[in-house]
Amino acid sequence: MKIICIGRNYVAHAKELGNEVPTEPVIFLKPSTAVLPLPGPFVIPSFSSDLHYECEIVLRISKKVCCIDLKAAITAYDAMTVGIDFTARDVQQRLKDKGLPWEKAKAFDQSAVVGEWRPADQYKNKKDIHFCLYKNKELVQQGHTAAMINSFEVIIVHVSNYFTLEPGDLIFTGTPAGVGPVEPGDQLEGFLEDDSLFDILIN
Ligand code: MG
Repeated sequence: MKIICIGRNYVAHAKELGNEVPTEPVIFLKPSTAVLPLPGPFVIPSFSSDLHYECEIVLRISKKVCCIDLKAAITAYDAMTVGIDFTARDVQQRLKDKGLPWEKAKAFDQSAVVGEWRPADQYKNKKDIHFCLYKNKELVQQGHTAAMINSFEVIIVHVSNYFTLEPGDLIFTGTPAGVGPVEPGDQLEGFLEDDSLFDILIN
């Protein structure tokens, strides 16, 4: 199983980190060992002093696909949830400044929170899905799929040109504006529409 993540898929988030809006999807990967066993807790790694949450919709691939078109992409995933792409922002900035790959900042153990799954066909209009993150019961991030630069299908088509997708692979589809730091004692709860799909503590 592999985890494919999309960077800068919401204009407001690209801008909040001072990045250009990309002309094609930005892709990076996390290994299967990045998945945080639920219910957690998430332990802040010792190598970062600026650990950020990024709340995102996650898709679960249901068939083996390679170089597919938009029509085939619609049926390539069968489940959705909300998750967190934890990011060591200080480490990422250091690597970006040197033009180096981001993996140390993004793909470390437990950096991927994956909520409880819901059937993808439960959401009829994929361009009208709301999701959000609460930190200590306060709303900190809010997303709407209509604001995505690349839709789920466009992402899957693009990714499948580079990586064969297999059943069980996950795609993190990008975070909206509002990313921010966590510290020990914080609680994070993620919602897809009105469903609470994860609730974790930070240590
Ligand atoms: Mg992200």
